[in-house]
Amino acid sequence: MDAKTIYHEILKESNLSATRFRINTLKEIDMAGRPISRNELMEKLGSNTDRVTLYRNLQGLCDAGIIENVDPEGSGYFVMKYGKKAHTQHHLHFECTACKKLYCIHEIVGDISKIPTGFNVKSFYLLAKGTCEACSTKT
Ligand SMILES: [Zn+2]
Ligand SMILES: [Zn+2]
Repeated sequence: MDAKTIYHEILKESNLSATRFRINTLKEIDMAGRPISRNELMEKLGSNTDRVTLYRNLQGLCDAGIIENVDPEGSGYFVMKYGKKAHTQHHLHFECTACKKLYCIHEIVGDISKIPTGFNVKSFYLLAKGTCEACSTKT
């Protein structure tokens, strides 16, 4: 199965019609290898992409459980929630304030199992902000 077919199948299983726009959006999110922002997606999908269409499609894909917004209280970063490369949430995310990219830092993990009894966790998010390696070394 080629990549396009896989996205097609994912959408079909979620009862969403496999539009070219959705397939391209999924491909970019999947290929990014880290949570990707709306602005980065706009860039990758091309300058004639309609912002409202993108926002609406991202919401639809989130609602269907195919992708996930890992920064719902901030500006929003999207990752695959579905399939083999599904993103897990319990590591640190690093948001670069210069290039606005979000990085997964898998080396730093929060241990949710140590939460005292009686506390019910509904969402869990570790976030660091600063400048990434590429931006720090820029003169
Ligand atoms: Zn950066
Ligand atoms: Zn991550």
